[in-house]
Amino acid sequence: MKIYNSLTKKVEEFVPNEPGRVNMYTCGPTVYHYAHIGNLRSYIMEDVLEKLLRYSGYDVKRVMNITDVGHLSSDADTGEDKMLKGAKREHKTVMEIAKFYTDAFFADCAKLNIKTPDVVEPATNCISEFIHMIEVLLDKGYAYKAGDNVYFDTSKLDNYYVFGNQNEDELVIGAREDVTEDTNKRNKNDFVLWFTKSKFEDQALKWDSPWGTGYPGWHIECSCISMKHLGEYMDIHCGGVDNMFPHHTNEIAQSESYLGHKWCNYWFHVHHLNDETGKMSKSKGEFLTVSLLEEKGYDPLVYRLFTLQSHYRKPLVFTYDALDQTAKTYKKLRNRISSLDAGGNVDESAVREWHDKFAEAVGNDVNTAMGLTLVYDVLKSDQNGATKRAVIDDYDRVLGLDLTKGSAGAQEFNANADGIDDPELIAHIEEKIAERAAAKKEKNFELADEIRSQLLSEGIVLEDTRQGVIFRRSN
Ligand code: AMP
Ligand code: ZN
Repeated sequence: MKIYNSLTKKVEEFVPNEPGRVNMYTCGPTVYHYAHIGNLRSYIMEDVLEKLLRYSGYDVKRVMNITDVGHLSSDADTGEDKMLKGAKREHKTVMEIAKFYTDAFFADCAKLNIKTPDVVEPATNCISEFIHMIEVLLDKGYAYKAGDNVYFDTSKLDNYYVFGNQNEDELVIGAREDVTEDTNKRNKNDFVLWFTKSKFEDQALKWDSPWGTGYPGWHIECSCISMKHLGEYMDIHCGGVDNMFPHHTNEIAQSESYLGHKWCNYWFHVHHLNDETGKMSKSKGEFLTVSLLEEKGYDPLVYRLFTLQSHYRKPLVFTYDALDQTAKTYKKLRNRISSLDAGGNVDESAVREWHDKFAEAVGNDVNTAMGLTLVYDVLKSDQNGATKRAVIDDYDRVLGLDLTKGSAGAQEFNANADGIDDPELIAHIEEKIAERAAAKKEKNFELADEIRSQLLSEGIVLEDTRQGVIFRRSN
């Protein structure tokens, strides 16, 4: 398997530290609001990567943190602690907000078929681990106390900009807690490991530490939580591109200074989902969530398919027109699969061949679009229906699109009484049957009859039976 590594800026052959096993870490959400569909693009792609690794035979352990300690808003709109901002907005405590939005996040993930990582750890569970790491960094001379805070000293490192992202203008994009000028720092990029003086008078969550009552910096979370569950060596660390600087850069700085050796070998970064006016963010314009898409009538898996159609290393622009197009594609594809003739025996050796093809094609830097092309290749192939279905079932372990679970929007039972074998025609008929069922449901019998007549004019008869609709040619 090959993946692009942001550290080397190359597509590399993936070689884990321990043969057959993968340690994987994902930066989790900040739970002060719903995740927007941009955040979820990153989580879908990380989910595909995890599933692809399992599909390729690896035993994967994946860990995710939940950022429930407040940090400055990256949008710099109010300069307020994000968690506190959420709590005030909803007249709840910070912990209530954290619980509510953590649950909401995993509910969205479930709708998008994103598997919950093996370990999910909230930052507020690990305060003693953070304090320990900071103590070691102070002992080793990588950290210093100044003013009311403890800082990491970036001048102690030969190569702080590990991702090579020294372009100062670009660096501002990812800055969160350094929005305001801090005169206590020795160097411009030094970052806070522990705050003892809150920037916000009413900072909600504080803990005792050797440096006074306070709270941890953001980056320390991921270093500690990943080491707690994955040990000192990690194979793959994931996140959105905005996390490269300063978050991942700082994670590497403090982790490797603490450990005294290289920490993580591969860095997987998902590019942004943008709207037509630029990067999607929680404070900008329409707040695009999974629930909003559902309210507008979209199946969440249509959004999953939308993201799989393009490569994770390219920015993706969201428009409703593009999503409508994807909804049509999804419906057609599922209807086509559901109308496969289920007769015949599964050709196991063919299934294995198709499996290997998929592992190689998609395994070339998570090429999800190639995975989708292969689904169509399977449908066009001369395999029998049972084999096609088995192969698509196998592909869906990675794609996660529920491709073989009944037809989309159509009745579960549509019998192809005539053995019509043109997949395009079957998909068309299935689509019309679904539209007719929807019209009937809305008691629009005129439209239902019109659809039936239209099919008849195309030479297709529909027959309603107790089990469902049967279709056949009229002559
Ligand atoms: P946050 O909840 O802000 O910590 O972000 C959660 C994840 O979403 C992180 O991995 C971010 O890098 C990622 N992310 C934020 N905005 C976008 C976006 N517009 N498109 C894709 N990923 C994003
Ligand atoms: Zn992180």
